[in-house]
Amino acid sequence: MYKYIYATILTICLVLLSACSANTSPKQQFNAYLPPFDTFFEEEIVPLESKNTTEDAVWNTDDVDISYIQPNRKLVALTFDDSPSKTLESILAVFAEYNENNPDCLATATLFLNSGLITQESLPSLHAATALGFELGNHTKSHFDLTALSAEVLQAEIDDTDQMLSSVDRKPRHLLRPPFGRVNDFVKSQVSTPIINWSIDTLDWAKTPAEDIYNGILENLFSGAIVLMHDGYPATVDALKRLLPDLKNMGYQVVSVSALAKAHGCVLRSGSEYIRLRKQ
Ligand SMILES: [Zn+2]
Repeated sequence: MYKYIYATILTICLVLLSACSANTSPKQQFNAYLPPFDTFFEEEIVPLESKNTTEDAVWNTDDVDISYIQPNRKLVALTFDDSPSKTLESILAVFAEYNENNPDCLATATLFLNSGLITQESLPSLHAATALGFELGNHTKSHFDLTALSAEVLQAEIDDTDQMLSSVDRKPRHLLRPPFGRVNDFVKSQVSTPIINWSIDTLDWAKTPAEDIYNGILENLFSGAIVLMHDGYPATVDALKRLLPDLKNMGYQVVSVSALAKAHGCVLRSGSEYIRLRKQ
């Protein structure tokens, strides 16, 4: 009698074990997260375990030109937010004139753009910027505080700017400068590029005089610093006219953020925040 009961319990356990194993195979677990098959093409299916690999999470700088960077110079990245604005062309003119006169120490920078500000009229300036060696970065579409958004709206804000910038530089993704520099763990978990904040804030948006913008940078400068500026203020333009030649005389070269990272051997990872990029 007891043998019969034990045999029955053993049989039930084996059946249950077999069923559980089938339901939890890696393939079926993965499939459980996929949308219905007819909503996407087969080649777009990426196995779960191959997402967010170390290789995917690293910002690729293979196509970033650093041939113009002088090996013995200290480096600083100038960044211009809330771009494009009405004085972007003046900013570009300062760089173009400086580069014309200083071919031995060319200067570039990174523009962080809002796609909500980009118009057909401003597109030529973006092409002019890339022709000067500038990097285009993502400052979202509408300049919302990303920490206050849903995942869906946050992604749409970033994607809209990436798509618009892609029409200019042919790159699918761009470094992210979050509006107001605001990030938290949620934002970091949603972002598929490195997050670039700053070491030196010029406060040029707050009617800071050109003299104070200039002094504020020089007093806080170090090799690997990232400087926050905006392309919409005449005082910023005036400060740049002195900064570019004076930085050269101080042994510095002005570069874009990605060029700074590559030249300094810094590996940038998706969803990580950077405020400086010192030489590794
Ligand atoms: Zn901004």
